[in-house]
Amino acid sequence: MQHLKDTFKHKGKRKQLIFELSEMGIKDQRILEAFEAVPRHFFLDLAFDDQAYSNMAFQIGSGQTISHPYTVAFQTELLDLQKGEKVLEIGTGSGFQTSILCELGAKVFSIERHSDLHLAAKFVIHHLNYSPKLFFGDGYKGNTLNAPFDKILVTCGAPEIPQELLKQLKVDGIMVIPVGEGKEQKMLKLVKLSETSFSQEEFGTFKFVPMLERTVKK
Ligand code: SAH
Repeated sequence: MQHLKDTFKHKGKRKQLIFELSEMGIKDQRILEAFEAVPRHFFLDLAFDDQAYSNMAFQIGSGQTISHPYTVAFQTELLDLQKGEKVLEIGTGSGFQTSILCELGAKVFSIERHSDLHLAAKFVIHHLNYSPKLFFGDGYKGNTLNAPFDKILVTCGAPEIPQELLKQLKVDGIMVIPVGEGKEQKMLKLVKLSETSFSQEEFGTFKFVPMLERTVKK
């Protein structure tokens, strides 16, 4: 279980991580500030406490991983998020990315297909006083009740672009999604141009756990 104490040492390591992220090309100051505000070690097992601020992915249970900090920052930068925007995240996982989106002032809706992870993320996120709407469900279905969204962020590797999610995006909205059949995915930024068309730009290769259908209750 997480230990929820943010020490001087953690804060110092966080500053170092922010420096690394900016060296790696993350330019948006608001995103770097959000990384300073959200204690990543809260989302990790105590065993990883010492490495929580290195640019690494870690196991979070149920066979899933928390994304690399750089990947979280990079995907967030591609979203071009503005305060108050409605964002749908697919793959709550640890809840770290969810918290970064909340810290940036977005109205966040996030879906996780593993009930264990959904519950653990809820606990830490609420402890940090963020209030996104968290759902246990299948991200392929999106969230029709709260659609349309200004932005959609997919944090698992999708074999193809889920059409239902595109439907739930506003015109002019942005969807950031890693797409690929195998172990690697291309990071895509889609802009919805009209109800029936979108533009697509590619931003390098990443490795995500797969986006799978249906829910897992345990
Ligand atoms: N944003 C997360 C990344 C976790 S990894 C973080 O910051 O920790 C991706 C997550 O997507 C995993 O937890 C996995 O269970 C979840 N996932 C995979 N397919 C899904 C689906 N169809 N719907 C919702 N979540 C899904």
